[in-house]
Amino acid sequence: MSIYRTHILLPVDEGTVQAGVFEVKRRLESELQARKLQKEIKVLESGSVGLVGKGVILAVYPDRMYYFGVKENDIPRIIEEHLLKGRIVAGLAHAPVAAMAADQTGARVGLTREQRRVVLDKAWTVDPKNIHEVLAAGGYRALEKIFSDKLSPEQVIEEVKRSGLRGRGGAGFPTGMKWEFTRKAGGPEKYVICNADEGEPGTFKDRLILEGDPHKLIEAMTIAAYAIGAGRGFIYIRGEYGLSIERVQKAIDQAREFSLLGKNILETGFSFELEIKKGAGAYVCGEETALIESLEGKRGNPRVKPPYPVTHGLWQKPTAVNNVETLANIPAIINNGAGWFRKIGTDKCPGTKVFTILGHVEYPGLIETDMGTPLREIIFSFGGGIKGGKKFKAALLGGAAGVFLSEPLLDVKMDFENLKENKAVLGSGAVLVMNEDTSIVDMLFSIAKFFAHESCGQCSPCRIGTQQILQIIYRLRQGGGKAGDLETLLQLAETMFRSSLCPLGQSLVMPVKSALENFKDEFALAISQAEK
Ligand code: SF4
Repeated sequence: MSIYRTHILLPVDEGTVQAGVFEVKRRLESELQARKLQKEIKVLESGSVGLVGKGVILAVYPDRMYYFGVKENDIPRIIEEHLLKGRIVAGLAHAPVAAMAADQTGARVGLTREQRRVVLDKAWTVDPKNIHEVLAAGGYRALEKIFSDKLSPEQVIEEVKRSGLRGRGGAGFPTGMKWEFTRKAGGPEKYVICNADEGEPGTFKDRLILEGDPHKLIEAMTIAAYAIGAGRGFIYIRGEYGLSIERVQKAIDQAREFSLLGKNILETGFSFELEIKKGAGAYVCGEETALIESLEGKRGNPRVKPPYPVTHGLWQKPTAVNNVETLANIPAIINNGAGWFRKIGTDKCPGTKVFTILGHVEYPGLIETDMGTPLREIIFSFGGGIKGGKKFKAALLGGAAGVFLSEPLLDVKMDFENLKENKAVLGSGAVLVMNEDTSIVDMLFSIAKFFAHESCGQCSPCRIGTQQILQIIYRLRQGGGKAGDLETLLQLAETMFRSSLCPLGQSLVMPVKSALENFKDEFALAISQAEK
């Protein structure tokens, strides 16, 4: 058995694939071979480290050093300088690898800032295509624990309930309760669905979990199936997520081969079949009942609720629909216990949250940190502050169906309860940062356009309301605003909130209202200029 002196990790995600990570990997392997170093230095693929727009990233261990924007032609220099002479390559962008420790010093920013990673603990250090590595790093240990400790389904549900885990898809519903309702619903046939139809603008956290640690999702879904009494499950993945689909399928095949999925799992008598369904790109299919309709082979139109999927879900059978990030917390809860989980985050929102930080920040990307971390810390510490020394103007939290926050709310704590008290939402965890030069009227226009495009048209308040809102904001942008426009905008959005069938139509009120309330002057100016 070879013992390698150095490991080189190449994070593979949609961004690095486009930047040429596989070409870099091929060159690296052939250059190592030419120098007869392949028995000393191991090259591995890993999941994403969460950085956006940095090109191909190469991490050298045990030296704990990242190189960014690596091209094929940089490889000979990296080998000669760093791997043979132990010197950092001058002229190549680099930074020390972040320590993924539990304590957060706050002393460093961006990539080198420490993070607590529960969901993404293995996503960037383990090759997700290699089940041996996943097992060695603790994968499927929670599933084994359930069987070896002879935990009943009710005990599993109780543990998840005690952990206080809340759905990370946006609504924040307690996961244990959802599982309990599904278990208690009548009938022998039940289903588990993972909602991986991530379509919220600015959000890519689920993609990085799927790409970086697909086995964790399979383990969590198998545990969920055992808890609720389901024999079959589906992962509904956004069709554009090609790498996620490939990785999850490979992980499913490997798990079956290792008796961790399929018939008679680990010879316990418990069986669970899991398959992938590809979404066709409709934003509304992220809504659980629209997703279920789509899974049934129909047009993805949301259903009227109640009844809820926990009693009348897929093919009208009890179904637990959970988000990717929610499920990715389950193995850690089972392994470490509910008490451990409750010590992270806040009282009412335990655990961590994965945030995507985008827009005018120095370090756009993805981070995992405790629930309740202040927005200021997320933007100015993890995100490195506003790019180019500009001033902060606004943050749109939670994607298109989110809320615009202005400077006085920068210290708000990022969890379901604190945000609700401040008339904001956590949503998907997207934090879109805008600098002083950004027009909120333009931003709201983009959001209205998105909603008008994605409305499924099933109910008239949303079908007509989104178009009317779009037209008014369009006029405002073109300098044709009229007195009364802002009141009409609010009225329309509130009518949609009260009378639309699903969350898509109900949520446009949030960006509209928060933009008008927090950036009133900007809208008033648009109207007064038009009146001159
Ligand atoms: Fe369709 Fe909009 Fe009605 Fe939802 S609210 S059902 S997206 S028309």
